[in-house]
Amino acid sequence: AVPLVVAVSTSLSAGNGLLIRDRAAFERARNLNAVVFDKTGTLTEGRFGISDIVLLDDGDEATELGFAAAAESQSEHPIAHGIVAEAKARNLTIPKATDVSNITGEGIVAKVDSQDVRIVSPGHLARQGNPISHNGLKQLEGQGKTVVVLVRDGVPRALFALADIVRPESKEAIAELQSLGISSIMLTGDAKGVAKAVSEELGITEYFAEVLPEQKSQKIEELQARGLSVAMVGDGVNDAPALVVADLGIAIGAGTDVAVESADVVLVRSDPRDVGAILGLSRATYRKMI
Ligand code: ADP
Ligand code: MG
Repeated sequence: AVPLVVAVSTSLSAGNGLLIRDRAAFERARNLNAVVFDKTGTLTEGRFGISDIVLLDDGDEATELGFAAAAESQSEHPIAHGIVAEAKARNLTIPKATDVSNITGEGIVAKVDSQDVRIVSPGHLARQGNPISHNGLKQLEGQGKTVVVLVRDGVPRALFALADIVRPESKEAIAELQSLGISSIMLTGDAKGVAKAVSEELGITEYFAEVLPEQKSQKIEELQARGLSVAMVGDGVNDAPALVVADLGIAIGAGTDVAVESADVVLVRSDPRDVGAILGLSRATYRKMI
């Protein structure tokens, strides 16, 4: 039988915008020491718009944007939506892409007009030994903008900078956790400059950037090895393994199905402030039971 206090809190939590999928994990929430937040789609809204295009070659914006949109029209990633939306806003004819494949957490590859088209992170190119040296890159990232590189037939042709919106509730969520004695850590596949800018805006002092999807869960395990009880908050397919490994996995309600199904608690309102509510509710519930 479900103890009465727990039953009451479960209905209370529904009123608070929380969906508790795993009661044991919810009970553990009262002992948390640290909360790890994914950046894109979690602390930010994950709705990207192109703010700048930097040409690296002798092409023109319309041509390069058309190639990028062709490949990205097959992707569900928020960056892809931003690129396709810009091409449509400019009334460009988007060529057809074939052989599209995702490099999860790093970019996308396709064939467009029999050319090899890649839209990838600057970090991906750097790891392959082809770093982008253009000054604009660091400058745009320092403004908190996500930058991706269009590579056609092996030649970098353009940088696309995309601006996301930091959720207005995120800063308050971090401050509230701090007042509860819990530290917040940010984890992102995005570049260091972007991670630094967004962290500073939110008052987060510890962050890890250019974290590939399989490394997200490793980071959680590292924190646990330091003796911390850790919650992970995420929205994406790439966050799912980390949500499973964490002592408490929390999915953003507006996130992907995979994230929601991997989580112990779902933030139905997609409001990061509700993380503090989980803690408060867990503490109140299990105090009363003893
Ligand atoms: P986060 O960890 O912040 O949620 P992701 O792991 O989804 O971010 O993506 C990390 C990085 O991989 C992005 O910042 C981008 O550089 C690159 N990337 C992923 N998917 C795409 C795509 N479809 N097009 C271009 N770049 C992509
Ligand atoms: Mg995300």
